[in-house]
Amino acid sequence: MKRAGDSDDPSTHEVIVVGGGIAGLSAAIYLGRAQRDVLVIDSGHSMAKWEPVVQNYLGFPNGVGGEELLKNGCTQAKRYDARFVHDEIKSASTRKSVFVLKGKRKSYRTKRLLIATGIFHLPPEIPGVKQCLGHSMFFCKDCDGYRVRGKRIAIVGANNEAIEYALGMLDYSACVIVATNGKRPRWDRRHARWLEEYEIPVARKRIREVDQRKRKIRALGFATGRSVKIDYLFTTRGDIFHNQLAKKLGAKLDPDGQIKVDHCMRTTLPRLYAAGCVTPANCQMIIAAGQGAAAAQAINRDLFEESLASHSLRRVRKEQLKDKRTVPEVSKSKSKRTKQ
Ligand SMILES: Cc1cc2nc3c(=O)[nH]c(=O)nc-3n(C[C@H](O)[C@H](O)[C@H](O)COP(=O)(O)OP(=O)(O)OC[C@H]3O[C@@H](n4cnc5c(N)ncnc54)[C@H](O)[C@@H]3O)c2cc1C
Repeated sequence: MKRAGDSDDPSTHEVIVVGGGIAGLSAAIYLGRAQRDVLVIDSGHSMAKWEPVVQNYLGFPNGVGGEELLKNGCTQAKRYDARFVHDEIKSASTRKSVFVLKGKRKSYRTKRLLIATGIFHLPPEIPGVKQCLGHSMFFCKDCDGYRVRGKRIAIVGANNEAIEYALGMLDYSACVIVATNGKRPRWDRRHARWLEEYEIPVARKRIREVDQRKRKIRALGFATGRSVKIDYLFTTRGDIFHNQLAKKLGAKLDPDGQIKVDHCMRTTLPRLYAAGCVTPANCQMIIAAGQGAAAAQAINRDLFEESLASHSLRRVRKEQLKDKRTVPEVSKSKSKRTKQ
């Protein structure tokens, strides 16, 4: 029995999920299976699309394409009656206890809102980099460190984080350099000492281009005309958090711009939830999926409690009592005669 969003206003959904990436899809599966009226609004730019072979997602010993994971997730959610629209939400507000979302195509209303809008990893602005994203240019040690074992690796960055990244990569390869791309180093003395201690070379000149063929990086070409042969590039340039809707609604963000949530993915604003990379969680697919599930469970629980408090569960019960079997059949067991 699928519940309508609101008996007074059928155009108000029970739940809207903004973002149909890994976290949003996982939430939609759970909400669909909880028989909630759920609409997923997605603009189609999941970062999962950048990964041709995901190697660290449970259940795929030979890896799985990021696109395939999304496609299967969508099919799975639709099986449980979750609905999808392609749109981009530009603004959000509240009217009484209903969220009103304005998209590029139309407006939407919902009782509960889950923000699963993700982030955007900023690639370095170097010619040739774009083609290599997800193939030989990466952002995440935990996702991609293993696959670059024993290769020649460059970390683009000029801060403490870049140095720690380079030090961490020594677990995977002996051949690691830091390339500041012409930026003035901003790492502190402690990190400078580690660079020396572990003998990590630093290339300080501006990178003119990434020499790549068929998305495989071959070398970094510097403005001086010199080039350094490498196989893989990592960067720590930073992220853009898609937090505008939460911000507009008044939910609290942390200093990095991530949406603050409790362990059930509730934000600081009633009826508003967030899941995936837009929260302080580690930006991993399996974590995003878990958070989506946790958010959906919290939403389902909160809606249930709301319906008890407002006696609206009674409507469902009334319908059941009218035309459905409400008492299980009881069969009498034959009593065994004891032999005397
Ligand atoms: C190159 C690369 C390789 C990666 N490899 C791995 C890997 O091997 N393993 C791993 O675990 N992780 C990997 N990741 C990270 C992984 O992609 C993320 O952890 C995961 O996609 C996060 O899920 P999410 O749902 O939070 O965000 P996303 O999957 O990015 O989904 C967010 C969705 O929200 C939509 N959206 C945003 N704003 C709006 C709006 N206003 N209105 C409507 N829709 C909106 C977007 O279009 C998008 O579809 C990789 C990332 C990159 C960039």
